[in-house]
Amino acid sequence: MQRFTYARPETLADAIAILAERGSDARILAGGTDLIIRLRDGSMAPTVVVDIKRVPELAPGIRMEHGALVIGASTVMTEIAADPLIRAHAAGLAEAAAVVGSVQIRNRATLGGNLCNASPAADTAPALLVHGAIVLAAGPQGIRRIPLDAFFVRSGITTLEPGEIVTAIEIPAPAAVIASAHQRRTRRRGHDLASVTLACGVDDSGTTRVAFGSVGPRPLLRVDATGTLADPASGDDARAAIFEGIFADASPSARSMRAGPEYRLAMLRVLGRRALSTALARHAAGA
Ligand SMILES: Cc1cc2nc3c(=O)[nH]c(=O)nc-3n(C[C@H](O)[C@H](O)[C@H](O)COP(=O)(O)OP(=O)(O)OC[C@H]3O[C@@H](n4cnc5c(N)ncnc54)[C@H](O)[C@@H]3O)c2cc1C
Repeated sequence: MQRFTYARPETLADAIAILAERGSDARILAGGTDLIIRLRDGSMAPTVVVDIKRVPELAPGIRMEHGALVIGASTVMTEIAADPLIRAHAAGLAEAAAVVGSVQIRNRATLGGNLCNASPAADTAPALLVHGAIVLAAGPQGIRRIPLDAFFVRSGITTLEPGEIVTAIEIPAPAAVIASAHQRRTRRRGHDLASVTLACGVDDSGTTRVAFGSVGPRPLLRVDATGTLADPASGDDARAAIFEGIFADASPSARSMRAGPEYRLAMLRVLGRRALSTALARHAAGA
């Protein structure tokens, strides 16, 4: 591991100043479940590691603000999975957080870190995408609101600017309540990254959102505004035709050790149907 300086700023302004000054030589440390591995294997070699856990503005927490659900970036998966507000308003996100790694990982792994690491297999990304999440980032120019769908570029790369820190993730008050569900497939039981991770959200207007990851360089969001997926009267063939369009841009790598492309594409369809069925049942039950 390359030697680095450890910085532990106590204000958001100080953290931003270090990041802005040191640029790509600096790396934020939140839970460290991704970063420490990258430091050890040498794939990241910052000269300064900025621990954000003492910054009060980045304290973990989940709250309703003007009808929006706001989740502090440092909130860990264990809290997200158990939180009553998240379970009530974004059940798919609670389900996704509950399957990240192991108990020990979930006690450390933050939501902000999961998104900023920008793995195509990040389990919380699909659920947040179907809920129209917005990333709040503080930087030298102030606060930016970045729609999550405009946040991911490719594995490890986001649209965060130098010096920016994600402070929170906001699930806006939707025009129509969205009932969601998450599904994933792993190569083996126990903790493993997803071969396919997928979420589905159905709203009162009959619009269905499907987001999926681990089948291309970044998670993708697709929308069925025809109402076919949400319509209880739709037949299997009609739904299958819509899913074909939704999954048309999935492009799983043939070089992955986790699963072959054919298997991932087949699983996308299976998980899509399962998540839709759960989301529809939750919607019918008023969840
Ligand atoms: C054994 C194991 C199993 C795992 N299983 C899963 C799994 O099943 N599903 C899954 O999705 N993930 C899994 N992970 C990955 C990991 O736990 C998650 O991505 C985690 O949520 C990252 O959060 P963290 O707080 O640990 O981030 P860190 O490791 O501290 O940071 C990750 C990256 O994000 C940056 N960063 C962190 N916070 C911010 C911020 N607020 N603003 C800007 N940049 C920031 C860091 O600089 C770093 O580049 C697993 C990891 C391990 C080690």
